[in-house]
Amino acid sequence: MTTSQYIKENLEFVKAKMMAASLKRVQEAAAFKAPTLVAVSKTKPVDDVIEAYHGGQRHFGENYIPELGGKSTDPKILEECPDIRWHMIGHLQSNKMKKLASVQNLYMVETIDSVKIADALNKSWIKLNKMEKLKVMVQVKTSDEETKSGVEPSEAIKLAKFIIEKCPELEFCGLMTIGASNYDVSLGPNPDFLKMIECHKEITCIPDLPKESLELSMGMSSDYEHAIELGSTNVRVGSLIFGQREYVDASSAVISISLKVSKVLIEGLRFFNFLARSSQSCWVDNLMPSERCSKLCLRWGFSSKSFVVNELISNT
Ligand SMILES: *Cc1c(COP(=O)(O)O)cnc(C)c1O
Repeated sequence: MTTSQYIKENLEFVKAKMMAASLKRVQEAAAFKAPTLVAVSKTKPVDDVIEAYHGGQRHFGENYIPELGGKSTDPKILEECPDIRWHMIGHLQSNKMKKLASVQNLYMVETIDSVKIADALNKSWIKLNKMEKLKVMVQVKTSDEETKSGVEPSEAIKLAKFIIEKCPELEFCGLMTIGASNYDVSLGPNPDFLKMIECHKEITCIPDLPKESLELSMGMSSDYEHAIELGSTNVRVGSLIFGQREYVDASSAVISISLKVSKVLIEGLRFFNFLARSSQSCWVDNLMPSERCSKLCLRWGFSSKSFVVNELISNT
């Protein structure tokens, strides 16, 4: 089978499963809006996005601003996918908000996790003089895993209120979470998703919000059906549609050894230089010292394909 056939078949498969899961929703989520499928195309080539688009898919997710910026302005995408809707689903830094706001066909930013980010994005959106507000969600940290971003569940309502009251250019649309990876569903409902349901309930108490349309973005390839049964209205599915992402093992070994923070940075930069010499376009991002130092994320692009060395964890 050609790639294009399998992407379309995978889409049909996931959509059928989503439909079936919607019918098995728990009582309290029965009235929630039907789930939207966001196809997560990170690290995958533009041609895969176009194939999925021709298969009827409209919502796409990316978690890295340079990659999103590149794909959203790709001439082929602009020509063949006029109605594409991009979701930003990756960690944000306030100094990148101007770049993010300028992404073509940006539909929603799912990962607002601080007042500072919300404020910066609001200001960047004003400057663009758009007719419409930018849709955003607040990312909630429901699992204890170090690498997950987001506000504490108890803080979600405060940030939602800040967006509603202080960010006139942003439209608050709901909550997003990643949740613990590899949770065993046979143990019962994922406690991270249950925490989200509680947060969601709390949020619906904010006056004047269109409660029926409030989003709950949770569920990925491994748990989207489970998430929908519990009330998810927005699932972000990548590998099940586009296939496994490619990771570059041989080179990542250079920096995957457990290192102290300063050493991680040095090794990371050395690695970057190596890549800069061997590829056409190259960038380093998410080098996050201080409290986020446990996460070092390097990405780079080789012509149209991009690869990721994901979340190299240091044991500091
Ligand atoms: C990569 C990613 C996904 C998709 O993951 P798959 O397991 O490939 O479905 C969903 N959400 C976020 C935030 C991601 O970064």
